[in-house]
Amino acid sequence: MAIDFTLSSEQNALRKTAREFAQGILKPIAIKADAEPDPQKAFAMMKPAYMEAHKLGLTFGFIPKEYGGAGISNVDLQIVAEEICAVDPGFGCILLVNGLALLPLVWFGTEEQKKKWLIEATSDQSGEYIAGFNVSESAGTANFDHPSAYPSGLQMTAEHDKGRGEYVLNGSKYWPSSSGGWDLMGANVNMFVVRTDRHKGGKEGLSAILVPRGTPGMRFKAPIDKVGHRTNQNNWIECDNCRVPEENVFAVGDGDLIISKAFTWSGPVAGIAAVGVARSAYEWTMEWAKTYTAAGDKPIINHQVVGYMLGDIATRIEASRYLCWKAAHYLDMYQAEGQAFGAMAKVFSCELLFDTVYKCMQVAGVNSLNKEYPLERYLREAAVLPIYDAGTIGMQRRKIWGVMADPDFDTNAFRDCEPVKFMKSMEGR
Ligand SMILES: Cc1cc2nc3c(=O)[nH]c(=O)nc-3n(C[C@H](O)[C@H](O)[C@H](O)COP(=O)(O)OP(=O)(O)OC[C@H]3O[C@@H](n4cnc5c(N)ncnc54)[C@H](O)[C@@H]3O)c2cc1C
Repeated sequence: MAIDFTLSSEQNALRKTAREFAQGILKPIAIKADAEPDPQKAFAMMKPAYMEAHKLGLTFGFIPKEYGGAGISNVDLQIVAEEICAVDPGFGCILLVNGLALLPLVWFGTEEQKKKWLIEATSDQSGEYIAGFNVSESAGTANFDHPSAYPSGLQMTAEHDKGRGEYVLNGSKYWPSSSGGWDLMGANVNMFVVRTDRHKGGKEGLSAILVPRGTPGMRFKAPIDKVGHRTNQNNWIECDNCRVPEENVFAVGDGDLIISKAFTWSGPVAGIAAVGVARSAYEWTMEWAKTYTAAGDKPIINHQVVGYMLGDIATRIEASRYLCWKAAHYLDMYQAEGQAFGAMAKVFSCELLFDTVYKCMQVAGVNSLNKEYPLERYLREAAVLPIYDAGTIGMQRRKIWGVMADPDFDTNAFRDCEPVKFMKSMEGR
């Protein structure tokens, strides 16, 4: 049995690079952008940090080497994501969405499509290239895979105009990240999951389609003004007879599987983002507890209740980190197949660590509410994590349930790192 949590020298170097970037370049920009009231301006302020991240190979490192990426493993991604999200999970989300948008091509695209779109991203010399992953809609997203036909589930349509060899997109998306791009004129490429067959439900009627920047008929309203992750752009996108060549379509009838798998790949990343935020809250609170006396004669850490709470906080952070690492390791073993396990890492870590950040506030006391200190920001960021990235109740928990309800589910599969095949029969419960 080989269990060893020691980082290799390469992983230590990766962590050092990510930490230096996060603390030196990202931090000052993110603090200013978080305070910017206009959400589009806040997002645009992140562009210089993004361009620096691009130089370090952090923007598309997850793309396989044969398409110009670094082929970074899910475990290595954990190390990078924790460092970045300890400083700014909103920026971490920008990088994450590049993966949500482009990895489905690696899993479901044709060789021709992979060469065209993945290499376009990895060979970008400007450092600005950004991708959007467009699933969520204003009518609701949790039931994206509802087995009934339109108007249940996702409602944006793409009709096949066979005569002209094109698909025609109509409808809107609400909440997707980065889709508006740095100037709200569009990301370099937007991947949409749309209904290509109105007569079929989510399990058969959905497909993926790539829409390049500048495609007529696609427009963006002002981004959503959120309480947390303010450095990340969340869009309202409208498509009005937006025509796209048919070679841009992939996973026809399997768009549901794309959503399930993409939000499985991102599960441990969202989980480790929560670890990063909680770690920062913990480090600040520990320092506070060791220096602040609350008008007593010794720092508050000498009160047993404060010590117990800090112990609980540290325990939760460690437990969540190792769950996320194991889930990432499992996804590395099975080409990101591991739908229930990826979801478990997301649900457990994000929910536990929201409460952990609040525990830090209880330790610090009323001063934690003062905007001069960072805990109020960590709480705002932590509040986003349990409900973004495929939500928690309706999508991630439902996915875990669907896998477990299968008659052949092996209750020890994740313990033993055995494969668990995800099937359409596990969806739409
Ligand atoms: C920072 C951030 C970044 C994001 N980035 C993206 C992105 O890049 N792309 C993208 O497409 N989206 C993105 N989103 C949206 C996000 O992925 C949401 O998790 C997703 O839209 C699901 O939303 P919801 O949970 O509110 O679902 P809704 O469908 O609005 O459901 C509302 C509530 O009802 C519950 N519910 C509904 N149906 C069921 C059911 N059958 N069983 C149990 N519970 C149910 C849900 O769990 C939820 O609690 C982002 C959101 C944020 C905050």
